[in-house]
Amino acid sequence: SVAAEYNVIDDHLIDSIFQPRKEFSHKGTYGKVMMIAGSYGKVGAAVLATKSALKTGAGLTFTLAPECGYEILQTSCPEAMFFAGGKEHIENFDVDENMTCGIGPGLGTHPQTEKSFLNFLKGYNTPLILDADALNMISKDSKNLKFIPEKSILTPHPKEFERLFGKTDNSFDRLELAREKAKELHVYIVLKDHHTQIINPKGEVYYNITGNAGLAKGGSGDILTGILTSLLAQGYSEEDTCILGVWLHGKAADFASEKYSKESMLPTDVINELGSVFKELN
Ligand code: AMP
Ligand code: MG
Repeated sequence: SVAAEYNVIDDHLIDSIFQPRKEFSHKGTYGKVMMIAGSYGKVGAAVLATKSALKTGAGLTFTLAPECGYEILQTSCPEAMFFAGGKEHIENFDVDENMTCGIGPGLGTHPQTEKSFLNFLKGYNTPLILDADALNMISKDSKNLKFIPEKSILTPHPKEFERLFGKTDNSFDRLELAREKAKELHVYIVLKDHHTQIINPKGEVYYNITGNAGLAKGGSGDILTGILTSLLAQGYSEEDTCILGVWLHGKAADFASEKYSKESMLPTDVINELGSVFKELN
């Protein structure tokens, strides 16, 4: 189908994107995720992102986190493998290009993390999922923007967007600025909000209408990063990853609010509702 300039993500679009699991398949069929996340006091963000990647169906999931997260991650996510990239913050981003990397949740912005992250970015040419502190470190110097690999997926909330690209007066101007930047940098921008907007490198916009105010809690964005990294690893295109991922995240949140209320639902509940969403899709 040909996209208009502004589109709404509906069930029909989701059905056309979603690929059921093949019976004749093995873990190698579903890609390798590398979640790069966490620092002392924020290992929970790495746990949430890793669990979401697992629950979205990746074949193999690895977490690169600081040593202080070793027992926490191995205990809470036994299906994932652990790599240590430093003691209390990551200072070594030594990652293969055959992995699909999601970078940022709880990473912190320690100078050593920043130095090694920016070095990694300069040498890496495969699309990345960039969120949270990965975006914040890039924001420190606008010259860093050109090091982002083409077709990468950036997932800023409004404040992170402002740090990256500057202040705008209203959400319309912000969307237009996002369209300009997505075209200029050849990236996908996921503008996280009540109705999240996905902007592709052609400047076309997709509005998502799943999700609810129960997501307005720390940890919700970390889950989206895990979902997106998992879908991209499984072979979905960058565009389909953004559309299906944002929709899944919101739909799982709608199931969680139905069960537990918007007040009490936690990001962990959202992860646990992913299964019900996949059951409806299959
Ligand atoms: P973050 O700020 O990085 O934790 O990301 C928050 C996530 O929750 C994004 O995916 C937002 O779209 C979503 N979210 C936050 N508040 C709301 C809301 N009031 N309605 C719908 N989605 C929300
Ligand atoms: Mg966030």
